[in-house]
Amino acid sequence: MVTISSSARGLLRQLRETMAEPLASQDRLDKIVSLIADNMQADVCSFYVLRDDGALELFATHGLKAESVHMTTLRLGEGLVGLIAAEAVPLSLEDAPSHPSFAYRPETGEERYSSFLGVPVLRSGQTLGVLVVQNANHRHYGEDEIEAMLTTATILAEMVATSDFDNLIKPGSDIDLRRPRMFSGVSLSDGIALGTVVLHDPRVVVSNFIAEDTEVEKARLDAALASMRVSIDAMLDRGDMLTGSDHREILETYRMFANDRGWVNRMTEAIDNGLSAEAAVERVQNDTRARMMRQTDPYIRDRLHDLDDLANRLLRVLTNSGLHAQRDLPDNAVLVARNMGPAELLEYDRNKLRGIVLEEGGATAHVAIVARSLGIVAVGQAESIASMCETGDDIIIDGPAGQVHLRPTPEVEQTYIDKVRVSARRRAHYAALRNKPSVTKDGVEITLLHNSGLVADLPMLDDTGASGVGLFRTELQFMIASRLPRLSEQIELYAEAMAIAGERPIVFRLLDIGGDKVVPYLRSSVEENPAMGYRSIRLGLDRPGLLRTQVRALLQAANGRPLKILVPMVTETFEFLQTKRVIAKEIDRVKRAGIPVSTQIEVGAMVEVPSLLFELDQLLPEADFVSIGSNDLVQFLTAADRANPRVSKAYDPIALPRLRAIRLVVEAGKRHGKPVTMCGELAGKPIEALALMAVGMDRLSMGPASIGPIKEMILNLDLKPIQDEIAEALSVGANGLTVRQLLTAWVERQNIPVG
Ligand code: PEP
Ligand code: MG
Repeated sequence: MVTISSSARGLLRQLRETMAEPLASQDRLDKIVSLIADNMQADVCSFYVLRDDGALELFATHGLKAESVHMTTLRLGEGLVGLIAAEAVPLSLEDAPSHPSFAYRPETGEERYSSFLGVPVLRSGQTLGVLVVQNANHRHYGEDEIEAMLTTATILAEMVATSDFDNLIKPGSDIDLRRPRMFSGVSLSDGIALGTVVLHDPRVVVSNFIAEDTEVEKARLDAALASMRVSIDAMLDRGDMLTGSDHREILETYRMFANDRGWVNRMTEAIDNGLSAEAAVERVQNDTRARMMRQTDPYIRDRLHDLDDLANRLLRVLTNSGLHAQRDLPDNAVLVARNMGPAELLEYDRNKLRGIVLEEGGATAHVAIVARSLGIVAVGQAESIASMCETGDDIIIDGPAGQVHLRPTPEVEQTYIDKVRVSARRRAHYAALRNKPSVTKDGVEITLLHNSGLVADLPMLDDTGASGVGLFRTELQFMIASRLPRLSEQIELYAEAMAIAGERPIVFRLLDIGGDKVVPYLRSSVEENPAMGYRSIRLGLDRPGLLRTQVRALLQAANGRPLKILVPMVTETFEFLQTKRVIAKEIDRVKRAGIPVSTQIEVGAMVEVPSLLFELDQLLPEADFVSIGSNDLVQFLTAADRANPRVSKAYDPIALPRLRAIRLVVEAGKRHGKPVTMCGELAGKPIEALALMAVGMDRLSMGPASIGPIKEMILNLDLKPIQDEIAEALSVGANGLTVRQLLTAWVERQNIPVG
């Protein structure tokens, strides 16, 4: 344990006074380095700032030649200073010139100094600069001195972030913190958004850095830790609040860290060195983040993320700031988060929300599906973005490219302004196709339908001209509610949906909860593999109260009108038959209650569990229609988690084996005279949709934004020739080409627009 340094505290007091004095930026920095040199009994104290061109510029010095200030620079990784900046770790040397990285700068006159102590100046884990002290004699800097320097650096970091160094820094440059950055992630929802960053978990701003009274600050830290531990324990004990294994695991990890002596000791040491409790948390969090950014092992990274989340919680307790304080969105808001559930997304004001950027998240994660259904641009897998941006930063999301431009340069911004203009023209062009029949050039009619799940997205039916809703995900209402929606609430939602759709049919899918569709108020037990666990119709048949209420709500909402009900996750025909029996019983009940029931109640099955592919001739005579859920079907066929892009990206969903599986369903549908719809995400992507039509699918259900591009493709398409080519590929292969390559080459040759 490092000894309490009263001189370090004295230094912090002096620094605070200097910060409050009405000084010009350079004078303030000069005074600060002198104070540090005096206090540390060092001959030299220098402060280097990292510029956006990657150079570390000497910004102030006490002891080196004054004329070298703003003249001397080192590149990242060059010399001892560059090494500290690149690795974000302190370096203490008694004989600096003998270190292999030592780089001598003659203009500074530093040849006389042999001992060296440098620390990185970090903010949110990013290096902003380097603070150095040097002595002429061979001096050993102790642990307490390193700690004191790190503490001082926390304050300098805040100064760099909040000061205006424009007139000090080399003209044309800026500090690295404000550098434009580009992130390459994966596309979750198409479109382009230019907007302003809103951090989903806003970083807590620490304004009180310096401790008036160390004991008081320690007591504040202890109290905050205690209250945080109590709330974590309470969450763990409240079994009914648990939302699945991930949640529990995270809470368990939090509990472990919250009781970790090493973590607590590091914060206490920082208070001993004169920081306030919140500044001490931030100081330790900085180190964590710096380590996190340099960590490639995913397990350790996750644990560091947990620690970072925990520090954020602690900061909120200490500064009394609530979670998600930023509900009041600016126009064109772009949410940036590590991850987010669909319910959290839906809490924001949709009129102001343009986009979301996540550090995690795959294309079939439910937050992505909700974003698509709301027309919100989204990109996932943007590594470390949440800690590199601030609320209020400019940001551009390029949905189709999966790219994010943070603090874009004016040139990048202009490029995107032009792109948006072009895409507005395209939207107008698609809108003009609205009333055209969706028929290929060679006369094949393709029915285009929406995927939906909220009343808010239904009016888009008028804009796209789609024939109806091919998949209404009823679980969304359950996912956004804080308690089980009552019968009356369900009736209200379904009736409103039917009223908006009018004559256009809606396929209501029965509750598909479980897996990653978490419903917080339903008690669930920990499962090793939730996607293959107690979910969907399995849960529905096991808890028939839930299923019966929903069927009753649908029948009452229809009030005599035709109704289409879709059963999710059917694995065996008997589950489908059992569900039909529940529906039949409810029909009787509703009729007995005097409510009219149409004779046209159709019940269909989702084909999304591979086993059902080999039961189609038993299932289809019982079903009025079937719908393929490619998201789950492909996940199970390839044994690759749909929410984990690391594995799912490796298997193309339209590769021959998957396409053969889909063709099995299409052919069975034809044999039995039953309609087959594709309602997985495949249907909304042009090349994928072409593959589906090529194997004979003529009903495609997709996010509303995809209707225009897919219809445009259909209108320009001669389907027969490509059907022949794919049929041949399915039986004898495609001359070494993949289906995707074959189709891409074909649309290019035929000059067919693909979005
Ligand atoms: C699917 O699995 O393809 C599907 C449409 O259902 P969900 O994405 O809701 O699981
Ligand atoms: Mg599914």
